[in-house]
Order: sequence, then structure tokens, then C-alpha cells
Amino acid sequence: MADEGTDRTVLLSQCSAAVFRAATVTLMAVSCPLRACGVTVPVVDGVIGAHLGMAGECALGGVRVVDDRVSVAVTTTDAFDAEVQRG
Ligand SMILES: [Zn+2]
Repeated sequence: MADEGTDRTVLLSQCSAAVFRAATVTLMAVSCPLRACGVTVPVVDGVIGAHLGMAGECALGGVRVVDDRVSVAVTTTDAFDAEVQRG
């Protein structure tokens, strides 16, 4: 929501892949959304761990991942349909 200024964030939807534990409750790892990087990195307490990209230490290490799946579900009719079919 509000821009914290010094707190850098990426949206979960910007990551090409994400690994969750226990029915998508806890985010464990993501594919780094930085195009030149793209490695799978662990996420600890919602923060991307420090890791090496193509050109040394990746700039996204220590960046918080914002889980935007809720807003995606609200604005995407496909997701809503899938929710209905599941029940
Ligand atoms: Zn990276």
C-alpha cells in the first residue's frame, strides 16, 4: 500500500515461481524476479535471502516480498471461478 521509502519490495506476482509450505500459507522460496538473475532463492520471514546473480550479489537480496495473491484473486474472474469449482 504505502511506499515506505527505504523499504524495498517486490510483488509475489512478479516472481515467475514461488514455493509454499503447508497449503500456500508460508512462502518458502521464489524465483528471483530480476530478469538477469532468475535463480531460486529462499525467503525468510517474507524477505528474499542474499544470493548471487549473474553479476555478483543480487540487488534483490533483503527485499521484502509482498504477497499480492489476494488482490489478484479479487480482480481476476478466472481465479474466482476456480474457487467456486473447488467447493
Ligand atoms: Zn536475484
